Amino acid sequence: MSLRVLVVEDDREIRAAVQATLAVEGFEVQTAVSLSEASALLRHDLPDVLVLDLGLPDGDGVDLVREVRQQHALPILIVSARHQEAQKIALLDAGADDYLVKPFSVAELLARIRVALRHRGTTLAPAVTVHSLEDLHIDLQTRAVQAKGAAVHLTPTEFNLLARLVRSAGRVVTHRQLLRDVWGPEYIEHTHYLRLYMGQLRAKIEQDPAEPRHLLTETGVGYRLATLMPS
Ligand code: CA
Repeated sequence: MSLRVLVVEDDREIRAAVQATLAVEGFEVQTAVSLSEASALLRHDLPDVLVLDLGLPDGDGVDLVREVRQQHALPILIVSARHQEAQKIALLDAGADDYLVKPFSVAELLARIRVALRHRGTTLAPAVTVHSLEDLHIDLQTRAVQAKGAAVHLTPTEFNLLARLVRSAGRVVTHRQLLRDVWGPEYIEHTHYLRLYMGQLRAKIEQDPAEPRHLLTETGVGYRLATLMPS
């Protein structure tokens, strides 16, 4: 049985390109051109993945994300224009899985859909506890971290921050989510903690902390633990 994707996009060309590519990859694709149409479709027939454009004619995607997330675990990917940063963060905090900034390649969309499906698909399976990419090896169960060819000693907070990123490897995690999950809900505004600890982690893990290849910055949004090396 093929996986079903609902693509909500009012731009006809983008919609057609995404639909064609996903269909070639074996997905069954449904489309909607507005939030109200998407909402109606979602009520009677739930897809496996939702791809949601931010710039839609009839309003704010945040409400739709909240509504879907209250009842369902399906992956939600946001597609946005560059100037929609603040809205993008609100959507991620409301439960969207990841986002892509236009113009994006359909190959990138496919890669993000696969990552999101892998994370969501394993909700009943054991959580991700091991991460390995090039010179970085992390085992959350034994708390062992290796980088640059040697064992790395991390403080408890550094480890918790890294562990949070491992559990969402390949996906962006917002500043707010990191602060809430590592420090606690009363710390969600303390972004300077995050900058400080991310700097420490990078110094221990990255070959060149100024040009990180593992702990990636998503400007204005959050951080992402890389699962692929940039080509
Ligand atoms: Ca649009």
